[in-house]
Amino acid sequence: MARITIYVEPRHADNTTCDHTVKPSGKPRDLKSGCPGRTQFAVVCSEHGDVGTPHHVKQLAEPAVTEHRQEHRAALATR
Ligand SMILES: [Zn+2]
Ligand SMILES: [Zn+2]
Repeated sequence: MARITIYVEPRHADNTTCDHTVKPSGKPRDLKSGCPGRTQFAVVCSEHGDVGTPHHVKQLAEPAVTEHRQEHRAALATR
């Protein structure tokens, strides 16, 4: 079975991945990067894709990662 990875992915308002360097405020550090600003954090699972709806604060997305990881662990335990 493939190893499952679950992580927090920063996103822009239009739900595209933000891999730009941003300030703690979410504003782009380099204005020439074309980054419209980081506004949300999606929880992504390698098996399920997006988990739930994106969170507006990274601190809220992290518990969702842990929670989803536990769901996988529970699913494996019942097999
Ligand atoms: Zn960006
Ligand atoms: Zn999953």
